[in-house]
Amino acid sequence: MLCPCKSQKPFNECCQPIITYKLKAQSPEQLMRSRYSAYATKQAQYIFETYALSSQKEQSIDDIANWAEQCRWTGLTILNTLASTSMPTVEFIAYYVQGNSLYQLHEVSRFIQEDSHWRYLDGDIKSHHMVQKLSRNDPCPCASNKKFKRCCDLSP
Ligand SMILES: [Zn+2]
Ligand SMILES: [Zn+2]
Repeated sequence: MLCPCKSQKPFNECCQPIITYKLKAQSPEQLMRSRYSAYATKQAQYIFETYALSSQKEQSIDDIANWAEQCRWTGLTILNTLASTSMPTVEFIAYYVQGNSLYQLHEVSRFIQEDSHWRYLDGDIKSHHMVQKLSRNDPCPCASNKKFKRCCDLSP
């Protein structure tokens, strides 16, 4: 399986070893990609643990798991990374399907290092809105070449 983060690499050579703690994220972008892939594969524990300690207080694993359960993540585009500043950031657009709608989230995320691990601190949401309503026979937005109803449609 290709990595959900759209790197075009196999999952087990990209985000999976990071999500399973076999490898450490070497940069904010790697951490960001691994968190996206963790959402896509519903690894709520990992998502929680890669929040900065100060941000973990405002999070719950149940809430993260519920949110991951409701969404199918269908695309990620990294727009910009600033790795060498005192406050590294990654700007990205992520796409997900919820119900029968495709949404786009455009965020600039901030990262810090704690105990020599990159962690997600917080982010500025630039835009977060519905892109389109999907019909069951539409091509799936995840680019699988399948119809939506046979792919990322979670409706009963
Ligand atoms: Zn990946
Ligand atoms: Zn799909």
